[in-house]
Amino acid sequence: MKFAFMCKKGQGGRGKVAVVGGGPAGLAATGYLVCQGYEVDVYEKLPLAGGLMMFGIPPYRIPRDSVLEGVEDLEKNFGVKFSYRTKVFCGEPRHDEGDEFVSNVIDLKKLVDEYDALLLTTGIWSSRRLGVPGDNAKGVFSALEYVYSWWVYELGYSTHKPPVGNKVVVVGGGYSAIDAAEVSLMKGAKEVYLTYRRTIKEAPAGEYEVRRVVSEGVKWVELIQPTKVVVSNDRVVGVEFVKMRLGEPDETGRPRPVPVPGTEHVIEADLVLAAVGEIPTPPLSTECDGIKADPKRRTIVVNERMQTGVEKVFAAGDVVTGPSMIGKAIGSGLKAATHLDHFLRAKKVM
Ligand SMILES: Cc1cc2nc3c(=O)[nH]c(=O)nc-3n(C[C@H](O)[C@H](O)[C@H](O)COP(=O)(O)OP(=O)(O)OC[C@H]3O[C@@H](n4cnc5c(N)ncnc54)[C@H](O)[C@@H]3O)c2cc1C
Repeated sequence: MKFAFMCKKGQGGRGKVAVVGGGPAGLAATGYLVCQGYEVDVYEKLPLAGGLMMFGIPPYRIPRDSVLEGVEDLEKNFGVKFSYRTKVFCGEPRHDEGDEFVSNVIDLKKLVDEYDALLLTTGIWSSRRLGVPGDNAKGVFSALEYVYSWWVYELGYSTHKPPVGNKVVVVGGGYSAIDAAEVSLMKGAKEVYLTYRRTIKEAPAGEYEVRRVVSEGVKWVELIQPTKVVVSNDRVVGVEFVKMRLGEPDETGRPRPVPVPGTEHVIEADLVLAAVGEIPTPPLSTECDGIKADPKRRTIVVNERMQTGVEKVFAAGDVVTGPSMIGKAIGSGLKAATHLDHFLRAKKVM
């Protein structure tokens, strides 16, 4: 994976830029900026760069070596400085998923003072809960938490082996759900149910991905929604679902799933993986000296030039759009880097 694909060597000398978050959006932007002659420092809370390409998406989909080669190229050939295990936050830091490696916290305001410009690409490192009784029982995890713990373990950053389920219920129809189902099966689960409240046609991961994991042995059950997690001695023993039917289109344009009363039933499970959405995690609570997060969506608020309320601070990737895909995050990082470059050129930072 070549992030600095526009040139062979960086020349530097055109100003200093800090990139907060070393996922696809941040790395693509870094590659663009070093080729434009900027000196770039990347601040990353995890022990490696790559973001969800390294710690979320299974390695058989995105080879880790290829991501690491791209990062090494930025370091060796373009002088990019990576500060790992470093969380950037405005004020008292909030706890997000993946924070257990953080050994250093830097205030966002300090970086704003020190650098000619900043790019914030901190992604979506907080998972929604199921939101039904029992969803905090032992054996209930978010999909991101579960796959992340496997990759952390396999990369040698933890000696704690994640649990292998016997009967696993995954709730959701997006990429995280597909990955959680496939990973549980690969790790030795006997039965894996992938459950979704609409039909395969509406599943955000797409029909192809669902059919692919079904061909591997995952059981697809559509038009059901959890009503509670069944718990015994603090541990999950099953999930109660209600059947759904499709109603009129909702605000997203997709048919609204409507519960069918009296159709409650239980699927037994000893591991439940909730893939019901991730929430953006900007490096600030709601506002940091003019940089704002949308109080409802938690995304960083930017204008059409990807610029926050502070003119030299830009933002890109999932933390701006909400959960998306690698290609879109890369596109967003490149767009923000282009505007950042135009901004500094107009200021004539040398
Ligand atoms: C389980 C899962 C599976 C997926 N599978 C696919 C797939 O198969 N195909 C696909 O196209 N997309 C997939 N996606 C979506 C894709 O991974 C994301 O859209 C993409 O990675 C977003 O890129 P990003 O750079 O915006 O954020 P991220 O990749 O999340 O990178 C953000 C980086 O910022 C760091 N960070 C966060 N907060 C701070 C902070 N305060 N200070 C310093 N560093 C910080 C994080 O550690 C992380 O490295 C999947 C997502 C999930 C959750």
